[in-house]
This record gives sequence, structure tokens and C-alpha cells, in this order.
Amino acid sequence: MIAPEQELVARGCGKWSDPDVPKSGWSYAYGHDLGLGKDRHKICEMCEAIHIRFVHVMRHPTGLELETGCICAGHMEGNLAVARARDDDRKRAAERVSRRQKALAKARSQLSQIDVETESHDHMSSSVIPALERLRKVMSHRVGEAAKDAKDHDYILEHIEHIGFLAEVELAISNAKDRLQTLLLRARAEQLALELEDPVWWKTPKGRRFTTSHNDRIQIFLLPDGRWSGLYQLAGDTDATWAKRRYDDMDSAANAALAALRQKLRKLGRLAM
Ligand SMILES: [Zn+2]
Repeated sequence: MIAPEQELVARGCGKWSDPDVPKSGWSYAYGHDLGLGKDRHKICEMCEAIHIRFVHVMRHPTGLELETGCICAGHMEGNLAVARARDDDRKRAAERVSRRQKALAKARSQLSQIDVETESHDHMSSSVIPALERLRKVMSHRVGEAAKDAKDHDYILEHIEHIGFLAEVELAISNAKDRLQTLLLRARAEQLALELEDPVWWKTPKGRRFTTSHNDRIQIFLLPDGRWSGLYQLAGDTDATWAKRRYDDMDSAANAALAALRQKLRKLGRLAM
């Protein structure tokens, strides 16, 4: 067992008993976290005994620089309370980072599940986009928190990782929206195909009329010469397209107008080939 750093200082361990190393007049330069892995910890360069994760880099006016633990740093700068407060602050930041890392792993698996759901079905659950948007909201908040710890405590990689994941969520939202759009267009095209397959005609004073659910319209009517003609008009268009020829009966005129409308809708991509 390694004795607490306090005791090592008192016992004059390591450089504490080296006459060439100053024991006071040091000041704190900066700090860093060596991370969670035990193999990444190092030995305090002052007492040369204690394993440290949170490094206090101490500088002396003579130009010396040592990487030390909290207690040695406190004795070197002559203020143990300040060194302890600094160390606690770092530990709290490290705990925040570790909590966020766990939450990030959970969010990643959440995203991959939503992704699978989006890819593998011919329809899309109405909960997909709201779920992704909730995830984006949570992640935007965490990116903000990570930015603060990156700035104050140097956890740069953690911040970058969060930014990268937020971008993945954004991409998933945009993909889900594209997919929803495709599915809606497909459903509308299927509906239109069914309506054209089995049109419901309405009687008019001089013939009959058919309107699709998209509001495309066909009109068939009897001409003064006793023959039949027709026209179709696309939804939103002000001009109608007239039949080029006349027909002997109403059904022929209707079938010709339907065929012409179908062809036009296919050209526009509103109807499957
Ligand atoms: Zn030490």
C-alpha cells in the first residue's frame, strides 16, 4: 500500500528531501486528467511515490517544472485548500465526462435501433421523427455541456465526439424526412392508380365527369353532332387538354380520356409506370 501523499510529504519522500529542489515558491501552471486507465496513471514527480490521475503541473521561478499530485502541489504553493479545491473541481468535471460518455453509448444504441426500424420496413412509424428530434434536443444540450468542460478542463476529444454524434442524429432526421416524403408520394401514387383503375363517374347534364382525389378532372360530353368528346385538366392547371378526335359512344370517349390522363400522369412521375 502506498501511504497518503500527506504522509509522504511529512516523511520527506522523493524530492521533498532533495536539497537541490525548492520546497516553496511554486505556482500552479495547468492541469490535466490522465484518464481512467490505470496504466495511464503516473507517479507524482515530487514525492515520487503516489500514483496520480489528476496532474497538477507546478512551475518554479527558477524554471523547474514538475507534474505532481494534489497534496504535494498544495505544499509546494503553500496553500493546500486551493490545491484541494482545484483537484475537486477536476474530479467533478471527470465525473461529468464519465456520465456523459455512458449516456452517449446509450444514445448511440438508441439511434442504431431507430435506424434499423427506418430501413427495414415499407412503412415508417409515426414515432420515428419525434424520437429522433427528442434525441437531437438532448444531444444539443450535452454538446453545450461538453463544450464547457472542453474549455475549462481540456476534455477536447469528448466534445468532438459529441459534436460528431449530433451530426449523425441530424443526418438520421434528414434521412427519415426524405423517406417519409418518398413513402407519402408512393402512397398517393398507389391511391391514384386505384382510382384510375376503377373511376367513379358523376352524371352531368351533357355527359359525365370524374375527379381524382388529387383534383385532376376528366369531362366527357355530347357534341351537337351527336358524337362524343372529352377533356382532362390536371390539378392546379388552368388549361384543359381536349381530345383530338370524336367518338361514337360515351364509353369510348371516356376510355380515351382516361388513357390520355394516365399517360400524362406517368410522364409527370405522379403515377407508377
Ligand atoms: Zn506527491
